[in-house]
Amino acid sequence: MKKRDFEGILKIHHLDPTFQSSVDQLSKLGTLKKSEIELLERVDEASNELITSEYEAYIERRYNESGPAILSKFDLMGIPIDKKYGGHAARPIVHALAMERFGQVGMGIVTLVDVHEFLGSLTIQQWGNEDQKSRILPEAAKGTSILAYALTEPDAGSDPASMASTFVLKDGKFVLNGSKYLISNGSIARYLVVFAKSAVDGLVSAFIVDSKTDGFEIGMHLSEKLGLFTSDTALLEFHDMEISRDSLLGIQGKGLSVAYSALLNGRIGIGSGCIGVMEDCLNNCAERAKYRTQHGKLIGKHQLIQKHLAQIATNLESSRWPVYMAALMKEDLEKDPNNKELLRAVDRQSATAKLVASRNAFDSADRAVQLFGGFGYSILSPVGKHLLDSRVARIYEGTDEIMELKIASSILGKEFESYK
Ligand SMILES: Cc1cc2nc3c(=O)[nH]c(=O)nc-3n(C[C@H](O)[C@H](O)[C@H](O)COP(=O)(O)OP(=O)(O)OC[C@H]3O[C@@H](n4cnc5c(N)ncnc54)[C@H](O)[C@@H]3O)c2cc1C
Repeated sequence: MKKRDFEGILKIHHLDPTFQSSVDQLSKLGTLKKSEIELLERVDEASNELITSEYEAYIERRYNESGPAILSKFDLMGIPIDKKYGGHAARPIVHALAMERFGQVGMGIVTLVDVHEFLGSLTIQQWGNEDQKSRILPEAAKGTSILAYALTEPDAGSDPASMASTFVLKDGKFVLNGSKYLISNGSIARYLVVFAKSAVDGLVSAFIVDSKTDGFEIGMHLSEKLGLFTSDTALLEFHDMEISRDSLLGIQGKGLSVAYSALLNGRIGIGSGCIGVMEDCLNNCAERAKYRTQHGKLIGKHQLIQKHLAQIATNLESSRWPVYMAALMKEDLEKDPNNKELLRAVDRQSATAKLVASRNAFDSADRAVQLFGGFGYSILSPVGKHLLDSRVARIYEGTDEIMELKIASSILGKEFESYK
């Protein structure tokens, strides 16, 4: 895998005169600090080390248990977390570039990092009280505790408000019952951000759950997935699980706001990962087109093969801007967190970024497999792995359809929301 030239890519955007209206945002891209470049170089090094174990685990259809250890070794388990909790306090654009590099390795690593750092740590940092933050975030940033985010249930996916998991307050403790389905990092997490509905008023609240609590059970390791084998996925169960009152994350009854704000962050990470998938597909295809010969010439000299290369490159470049834009807008939101209008705009942009980048990543991986021919269809080909692994990005953290509905209703107004 080639070493990634972060600055080179940023310079290309600067030179493009068609983005005049966005010059202000783009100029921020050109001012990556030395420490930020160094962090991204570390991400690059870690990615080079991750690649072997990721492929070994993928070929053996298993979770890559080396992933968290390698990320911890390079001190990359707390990229967006405040320095006082042991993180790097990286700006969203820096985190996006890091996820892009991890995406070149594959969506398995992107999923691990996205769930641990965006849906887990960042959510606790945003909504937690000081006690929760100082107790959990340093361990998470060090990688000694892995985090997960448990919203989906067997009968509640796109419609989380219809969840069946419940909580009641009994003798000063919350008692949780229910199950959570398809939870990434589910069986390896020490702490999970869990959502449940009040058995009294039906309102959803968010909780931080320690997986060592009595009543917490890993119902099943979900290994029958189509791809993404290197990422841990589990069905979790809570049986009369008692947790203390200070496990509540944010305000009681406002859990869906916690859930949706986490997904806003997560979608930027997934979109960024998809950019990396496309870059890796493009690199692999360009290389293969220059050494594989058929009909007496290099396949790169066949114009129909050039069309696939051109389309992958176009997919990549047409996804990059929506993703970077979402990250830059998120940076503005972090400076002005109570700006509701900006929040809605960032929410829409992060949905757009994930929608565009995940569709384009899957199309690019499909074209890459085509360009590779029969070898592309083998489990030993890097592009075959991207085909299987990138498909999930059109489903998790909000399906394509939910992203489209979100974007449309943000244009038309609240009264046009087609789901509740
Ligand atoms: C590998 C993997 C990892 C995951 N990790 C996590 C995790 O860590 N944490 C977590 O909480 N969840 C996780 N998920 C769950 C994921 O977020 C859900 O699968 C996703 O939100 C879709 O929910 P669903 O599967 O129930 O599909 P459904 O909601 O049943 O949707 C079925 C179809 O109906 C469409 N649809 C639904 N409602 C509408 C509507 N109103 N209008 C039009 N179309 C609609 C959907 O777009 C989809 O095409 C993961 C999923 C996978 C596959």
